[in-house]
Amino acid sequence: MTAPTPRPGIMDIRPYVGGESALEGVSRVIKLSSNEGALGPSPKAMEAFRAQAADMHRYPDGGATRLRAALAARWGVDAERIVCGAGSDELLGMLCRAYAGPGDEVLYSAHGFLMYAIAAKSCGATPVTAPEVDLTASVDNLLAAVTPRTKILFLANPNNPTGTYLSADEVARLRAGLRPDILLVIDAAYAEFVSKNDYTPGIELVDGGDNTVMCRTFSKIFALGGLRLGWAYCPPGIADVLNRVRNPFNVAAPSLAAGVAALEDTAFADLTKTHNDYWLPWMQAELAKLGLPTTQSVCNFVLVQFPKEEGRTAQAADACLRAQGIITRAMGGYGLPDWLRITVGTGEENQMVIAAIAAFQASWN
Ligand code: PMP
Repeated sequence: MTAPTPRPGIMDIRPYVGGESALEGVSRVIKLSSNEGALGPSPKAMEAFRAQAADMHRYPDGGATRLRAALAARWGVDAERIVCGAGSDELLGMLCRAYAGPGDEVLYSAHGFLMYAIAAKSCGATPVTAPEVDLTASVDNLLAAVTPRTKILFLANPNNPTGTYLSADEVARLRAGLRPDILLVIDAAYAEFVSKNDYTPGIELVDGGDNTVMCRTFSKIFALGGLRLGWAYCPPGIADVLNRVRNPFNVAAPSLAAGVAALEDTAFADLTKTHNDYWLPWMQAELAKLGLPTTQSVCNFVLVQFPKEEGRTAQAADACLRAQGIITRAMGGYGLPDWLRITVGTGEENQMVIAAIAAFQASWN
């Protein structure tokens, strides 16, 4: 008798490894590796979480009624078309499970979010990537990579880890160029950080047809990553499908309560945005002064390139920062071995990481 074997493709999945939060022997860690909100969560969200946790013997409202109503009111959309998930990761996985399977292709940009490959392979589908131009998704390349087997196209807009974005016109051109039976999933996890007039998270595209979904998260601007909370805005038929494959009580009650409170606390989200608006360009400018190129990130992180020369590499910089208790994200696993991704932290944290990189650079001059 042989042991049970997983379906074909499962053993090709490289497990997702999140940014560490501890370093051995280091008491104060500065964690700038997972794009979590620099200011932490809204105090009102924390309070709502604690209050709801008192009822932890009760199952949550599986329909996430209050949260969906709050999201619908906030965005002026129909609550029936919103589905909540345990993080947007869960929603990405549910979309793959429901719409793709063995023999199908799931398409995304070369340096798209790592979860797309995991979600595709988990349901037996084949991940396919399209080359980028200047570390930005290319509509032409994505359209050229479509085959008769393409079922889903994931577009992170803006994208993690590159931080770059496509304009609303470009996303509309992408949608217009796709067969109507291909599901376009716009993953707008970082939407709230974007300050560009030509950007939209894609609600209008969802409204404009029955083949586009927008996914959002509470892990970034709302800094509730630990609570696992995300939502998808869908055409009615797709919301119906997701509700069929959704686990009955997929989001914990304290997470739902914290989500409602975080949404209501617009002042706190605005503060986080204002903070990012100041520190993101500051970090990009400081890295440029050090001769280190960055992408045009519009998110709450920078992606910075180090030279290939021995000792000056991204790996060497990563090791040097870690020795000082600063954790950033080395991008080798994303196919970007020369790059580090650094989350925008508090002002003090940002100054410390830049000073540490400056010292690292100076040791070579
Ligand atoms: N999409 C993108 C582009 C992301 O960067 C992330 C988080 N790293 C997610 C989705 C998933 O977010 P969560 O599951 O925490 O909602």
